[in-house]
Amino acid sequence: KPLTIAIDGYSACGKSTLARALAKRLGYSYIDTGAMYRAVTLHLQRQNVDLDDEGAVAGAMQSLRITFRPSDNHVLLNGEDVESEIRGLAVSKLVSPVAALSIVRRAMVEQQRQMGKDGGVILDGRDIGTVVFPDADLKLFVTADLDTRVDRRLRELRGAGREVQRVDVAANLEERDYIDSHRDDSPLRQADDAILLDNTDLGLDELVDRGAALVAD
Ligand code: C5P
Repeated sequence: KPLTIAIDGYSACGKSTLARALAKRLGYSYIDTGAMYRAVTLHLQRQNVDLDDEGAVAGAMQSLRITFRPSDNHVLLNGEDVESEIRGLAVSKLVSPVAALSIVRRAMVEQQRQMGKDGGVILDGRDIGTVVFPDADLKLFVTADLDTRVDRRLRELRGAGREVQRVDVAANLEERDYIDSHRDDSPLRQADDAILLDNTDLGLDELVDRGAALVAD
């Protein structure tokens, strides 16, 4: 029977890389729920929506459609490929406050449950094992030292040709981790039945091997 696998953890801990690689090995689909919150953020940003104005946020959510292109898993905002734009610091700086809004979370959680309902799927995010799929067959919680995570994200961003400073990336990760773990609505935490994977000293291959071994059990 195809499984539902939940991978949660802090920002830039390697969970997306793990999720993508595992999904490929297992022939499962992969849902990057962080990309969905990022696409919502870009949508609200483009429309200059005041986040304190619930009516305005609700209105903007009406004209929002998020999909993933099957061929490359890029996130599409109303049909437009925004995969690259959502990874920049402008979106990264606003995404956690946006993701703390109940109206946004309700819509995203519902869509994620719908997309994952048939199993054979790996979702990564902050609340997958605690809220979206509390009955997931396997739950992983990934951590790594802040320094390791900053290095990783810096490499990714610079590799994509972005000029970013280490201090800015570090501040953003710390701030998002804080907001994500302290919001009222489904804060980031390790589910009681999640398996902790510390990725600080692991290479990607080792991390994926460990994940795959847990799936096989
Ligand atoms: O995974 P990623 O770092 O791209 O996620 C961006 C942000 O989206 C997180 O910092 C968090 O605020 C929000 N998020 C969330 N719940 C999820 C996935 C992401 O609140 N399931």
